[in-house]
Amino acid sequence: MSWFKRVEKGIVTPTEEKKETPDGLWYKCPECKTVATMAEHKRLLYTCAKCNHHDRIDSDEYFEILFDNNQFVELDAELSSADPLHFVDTKAYPQRVAATQKQTGLRDAVRTAHGHLNGLGLVVACMDFKFIGGSMGSVVGEKIARAIDYARQNRLPFLMISKSGGARMMEAGYSLMQMAKTSAKLALLSEAGLPYISMLTDPTTGGVTASFAMLGDFNIAEPGALIGFAGPRVIKETIGKDLPKDFQSAEFVLEHGFLDFIVDRKELKQQLTDLLLLLRPAEVSAAAEATAPRTKQRV
Ligand SMILES: [Zn+2]
Repeated sequence: MSWFKRVEKGIVTPTEEKKETPDGLWYKCPECKTVATMAEHKRLLYTCAKCNHHDRIDSDEYFEILFDNNQFVELDAELSSADPLHFVDTKAYPQRVAATQKQTGLRDAVRTAHGHLNGLGLVVACMDFKFIGGSMGSVVGEKIARAIDYARQNRLPFLMISKSGGARMMEAGYSLMQMAKTSAKLALLSEAGLPYISMLTDPTTGGVTASFAMLGDFNIAEPGALIGFAGPRVIKETIGKDLPKDFQSAEFVLEHGFLDFIVDRKELKQQLTDLLLLLRPAEVSAAAEATAPRTKQRV
C-alpha cells in the first residue's frame, strides 16, 4: 500500500490561484548563474556580487546612479520620430514607433538631461537599448545635438552614455546624417573648451561607435561591454580568419588603445567626479580658486 493516498479525485487549481514566486523578486546572473534578491542586485547597481557581470540598464537607472538625489531636468523630452521614407518592413514604421513608445514608456532611444553630479553641473545623454535596439535615428541625433548646444550655452561638461546597435534602418540615410551632425556639434564643444566624456556600455556598435561614441576627450567603458563597428560574423567572413578570443570586448578594445579606461559601475560616480574636476574649464577653476580662501578660513 502506498504511504500517500489521494482520497478525493479531480482536485484542480485554477491557474490564477496557483501560488508561484512573484516575478521581479529574484535576479539570476546570466554569466555565473548566482541568484540574488532584486533589492541586493539594485544595491550593487545591477552588477553581480560574485563575477561582477554588469547587467544592461536603461537611462532611468543611469540617471538615478549619477544625478544627486535623482534630480535633473530632462531636455527635449517630447521629440518623436517622423516617417520621412514611408518605411514599411513587417510593420509600418510609425506603427512600430507607436507600439515601442507604448511598451517602453519612452519617446525614442535617447534621453538627455541637465543635473548635478556630486555638486558639479553636467549634461548627460543616455541611450536606451530597449527602444528599437538603441538605434540612432533623426530624433537620437537631434536630441544629442541639442544637448551639446545646451552644454555650450550653459558652459557645462557633456557626458554621453552609448548603448546601441547602430543606425536605424527605417530612417536609412537620415540616420547616417546624424553621425556628421553630432560629430560637428562635438567639435564646437571642443572649440568652446568644454569637456566631453564618452562612456560605452554593452553593446555599442555600428554608426554610434563610428561617430560620437569614440570622440570623447576621454573614452571609457563598462567591464565586459561589447564594443565594435561591424559584427564578428561579418568581419570573419570578410577577412577569412578566425577572430581572437574576447574580440570586441571592452578589455580587448582597451588593450588595443581605443579606450582610456574601464570603469566599474559601483565606482562610476566617483571616477566621473574626479575626471570632471580634472577637466574643469579654466574659468571655473579660477572661480573656485577665488573662493578658496574663504573655504580655508571656515576650516
Ligand atoms: Zn555573476
